[in-house]
Amino acid sequence: MKEIILVKYGEMALKGLNKKTFEDMLVKNIKRRIKPLGRFQLTSAQSTTYIEPLDDDIDLEEVVDRVGKIFGIAALCRACVCEKDFEDITAKSMDYLDDILSRAKTFKVTAKRADKAFPMKSPEICMELGGKLLEKFSHLKVDVKEPEVTVTVEIRDTNAYVHAENIKGAGGLPVGSSGKALLLLSGGIDSPVAGWMMAKRGIHIAAIHYVSPPYTSDRAQLKVEQLCQKLTPYCGGIAFYCVPFTEIQEAIKDNCPEEFFTIIMRRLMMEIAQRIAAKDNCLALITGESVGQVASQTMAAMACTDAVCRIPVLRPCVGMDKTEIIEIARKIDTFETSIQPYEDCCTVFTPRHPKVRPQLADIEKAQNSFDFEPLIEKAVAGTEMKTFNVED
Ligand code: ATP
Ligand code: MG
Repeated sequence: MKEIILVKYGEMALKGLNKKTFEDMLVKNIKRRIKPLGRFQLTSAQSTTYIEPLDDDIDLEEVVDRVGKIFGIAALCRACVCEKDFEDITAKSMDYLDDILSRAKTFKVTAKRADKAFPMKSPEICMELGGKLLEKFSHLKVDVKEPEVTVTVEIRDTNAYVHAENIKGAGGLPVGSSGKALLLLSGGIDSPVAGWMMAKRGIHIAAIHYVSPPYTSDRAQLKVEQLCQKLTPYCGGIAFYCVPFTEIQEAIKDNCPEEFFTIIMRRLMMEIAQRIAAKDNCLALITGESVGQVASQTMAAMACTDAVCRIPVLRPCVGMDKTEIIEIARKIDTFETSIQPYEDCCTVFTPRHPKVRPQLADIEKAQNSFDFEPLIEKAVAGTEMKTFNVED
């Protein structure tokens, strides 16, 4: 029996004139992800994209798994392809849904008739097919309010489709539809989650990571690269910028008051990030900060870092509890990598008593007592770029 996958759009279905652009982007993202699995034909109509496998040996489970991670999709379902003929619809439904209907106690049938030329109207399809299914699966009862199984018949242009299971999609908007932003990616739990959350809003992610050898090890960098790789099934290809940060951190240590180390370091991170962002057409920065989590994540500290920012800083985790962030990290499979115990440059030279409520004027004065500009330029020039793509 021939099966296809129906992909139902999320909130992009509500877009007006721009809908086509969003749809094209989604279809492009889907194509790229499933191409290694075989040949497919994709067609779109009425806020749905149909994925039709053209080869016999395609693993549809794997297709569902991959497409289930793509943003812009509310739901997907495997459906059986029928002739636009009631007899065929009935026979195929009985066969295709045998397992699920044998196990269920209650069901109902719904019908969507996009092709108004089909001789039966929707209520008639429901009644007739419902009756036939009750004859075959005599243990079943109809429950129109809360059925265990909803059998859906869709009469479309070329074929009819029958399905009974909706798989939840990843939601959000197609990656790329909201432009690009630069994620400050540490090896921690929060920043990969922040990247995933903004990708969900349609943002194409590039990542930047600061290393301070010999204080931080190659293993620490490798861990961050692994995190980048883990994000690709959701975010698509990611350009990864690795910034040599040792000299800047040593200069802060040698020239600034200890209680301001962290804030000044974060301001310099932001400064470098913006310069890389400008070169790579990124319209915002993204961090994994959450209010109150640590001393550098108070509102006063954020005001001090934001003071050097000329583009928006997106902080999607800002109002989340650690447990909520961890829940997502587990779901997207970054958690186990994030908790590997390698040092981050943020943990080098951490002040014993960081300022929780820093005054911007004090910070600026401390920072201006040393000319960081040559070191910033050197760090930007020494930045190395790698690209991570989804593994096939
Ligand atoms: P995370 O779990 O994301 O590491 P955190 O709770 O450890 O966050 P901080 O270490 O204060 O918090 O870092 C706050 C944010 O600064 C991170 O979420 C990340 O966006 C950015 N950041 C920290 N260290 C680095 C780094 N070495 N490279 C790039 N960005 C970093
Ligand atoms: Mg961290």
